Amino acid sequence: MILCRTAAQLEAALTRQPEERTLVPTMGGLHAGHLSLIECARQCSGIVLATVFVNRHQFDDPEDFANYPREEEEDFERLRQAGVDLTYAPDEQEVWGGEPPRLEAFEIPGMTDVLEGQYRPGHLRAVAAVVSRLFDQTAPTAAVFGEKDYQQLVLVRRLAVECRPPIRIIAAPVVREPDGLAMSSRNRRLDPQSREQAAGLHRTLEAAAESIKDGLDVEQAQRQAFETLVELGFEPDYVEVREADSLCQPAPTDRDLVILAAARLSGVRLLDVVRFGLILS
Ligand code: AMP
Repeated sequence: MILCRTAAQLEAALTRQPEERTLVPTMGGLHAGHLSLIECARQCSGIVLATVFVNRHQFDDPEDFANYPREEEEDFERLRQAGVDLTYAPDEQEVWGGEPPRLEAFEIPGMTDVLEGQYRPGHLRAVAAVVSRLFDQTAPTAAVFGEKDYQQLVLVRRLAVECRPPIRIIAAPVVREPDGLAMSSRNRRLDPQSREQAAGLHRTLEAAAESIKDGLDVEQAQRQAFETLVELGFEPDYVEVREADSLCQPAPTDRDLVILAAARLSGVRLLDVVRFGLILS
């Protein structure tokens, strides 16, 4: 595996590689969820290029940024073993060139200011900024993103169609622990009791999706799921059903839906999503 630390090293390394390349952006602290994205990228033709970069601008809490897992050597070894051809692990200077990103340029009304954007103002603009910069620097033909961060995936699809040439975005399903908890670098902050409770988030979303499929009104299902989470000890930010491609409020004719939630448990903010289809009647 080739390791590049600077944009110049990356550019030089890419001139010696095939033009087809699939990008897997990560912030490190790698787990089986990330490795499933690599596996997905390996199914594409050309090389697999991973990035490891913790983007400070997408953290709302400096302490969260400071405590984010940084275990580069272990991560590089995981990437090498997973079959990554090239890893780009730059510092802030290499990514931003000494200038903070102009986040206002990445505002997409109705996308960066709803759901995660409402509860973490600026977060999605910063995600869009770093993904755009990494797209520019790595010039991939395709990129893999996890459905775990579902709104990020929808946002990135929007960015990718505007790239020239457009970048094909591949969605990878959520990888879960045996009890259903979505794998996340933040799960290790859960104390043993919270870790046990945490699976309640996925169970609640699954139950809400089932009840909507059985005919329960969407608003009522959202409300019930929110209340269930509170009873289970979570502090939910939101539980929302949306149309799966656009993330718009679902119309009665929409059949491809997602239920998205963000909730805190003992101070750890967990995200989850369940995608489900309704049968045309
Ligand atoms: P992160 O390192 O948290 O920025 O995540 C990097 C990529 O891995 C993103 O596309 C995430 O959606 C994806 N990812 C993180 N956790 C999971 C998971 N449990 N299952 C699938 N993809 C994941």
